[in-house]
Amino acid sequence: MSKPQRSVTVRVPAKVNVQLAVGPPRPDGFHDLANVFLAVDIHDRVTATPGAPAAPGTPRVSCTGPGSDRVPLDAGNLAVRAAVLLAAHHGRDPDVHLHIDKDIPVAGGMAGGSADAAGALLACDALWGTATPRAELLALCAELGSDVPFALVGGAALGLGRGERLTGLPVGGTFHWVFALADGGLATPDVYRACDRLRGRSPVPAPAADPALLAALEAGDARALAAALTNDLQPAALSLRPALADTLAAGEKAGALAGLVSGSGPTCAFLAADAAAAASLAASLADSGTCRTARATTGGVAGATTIESHA
Ligand code: ATP
Repeated sequence: MSKPQRSVTVRVPAKVNVQLAVGPPRPDGFHDLANVFLAVDIHDRVTATPGAPAAPGTPRVSCTGPGSDRVPLDAGNLAVRAAVLLAAHHGRDPDVHLHIDKDIPVAGGMAGGSADAAGALLACDALWGTATPRAELLALCAELGSDVPFALVGGAALGLGRGERLTGLPVGGTFHWVFALADGGLATPDVYRACDRLRGRSPVPAPAADPALLAALEAGDARALAAALTNDLQPAALSLRPALADTLAAGEKAGALAGLVSGSGPTCAFLAADAAAAASLAASLADSGTCRTARATTGGVAGATTIESHA
């Protein structure tokens, strides 16, 4: 046990998938993946304070920031599920109020809900003084969802299985990205279903990490990484949201090294040569009329981190 706190705030990053290789559907409905995650400098903040439950066994949750009206404020919120799971793990009540300050686009293919779950686990663990070992926290993350362990770890990692079996990857430099944010979201299960439908009966190879992509990450070589970016969900996301093709074309016309749909979309991610190129690409994309807004940022940042703690 460590000393319980009065308030703990954790910041937790969004991700982009620089490679997302999707295998055929498994009997359990999931797909085997080779998923190369990179944490990017867009963060949600999760604050845990002691509080009476909203209903027996369910923490209270509030949310502010862009898209927060589309975040569930009940037991369906992934941060709430994380608090309940951690409390059960330690045989205690989940008596906490969680506040989520959102900056990660909601249902944008950047794993915002997963980030909030990892943030809530870390914040509640410190608030309650339960000092859960890292390996146990990671196992709880994997129980909550395929993308949750990576939000805790950050940096870059290869996820196998459903994406939850992580191996950390070396990153040799800072990568400069621009994210084109769309209006509304895409539901991840719909995108996987569309992927299976588009593939029909064609044989699907077992997913594997691309050695050229891993080498580009390790070397910090943006041009080599741009040449290796792939997302098997992109055709499915484009089939559900054809206008994303215009966003990708606008980014490439404006000088991106390469662009792709981020995860299940509809956010599009563009790699730029340096910070100045990213700033000018973001300005062009924002003016292109093909997205709601565009943000320049960097990749390879730390995972969930406690930024404030009051005893
Ligand atoms: P991923 O990339 O992991 O597939 P995503 O980034 O596309 O996910 P999220 O922002 O995680 O999407 O939200 C997906 C859905 O999950 C939302 O539409 C919302 O209904 C639900 N949800 C549950 N908890 C949260 C949360 N804390 N933040 C955002 N959405 C949440």
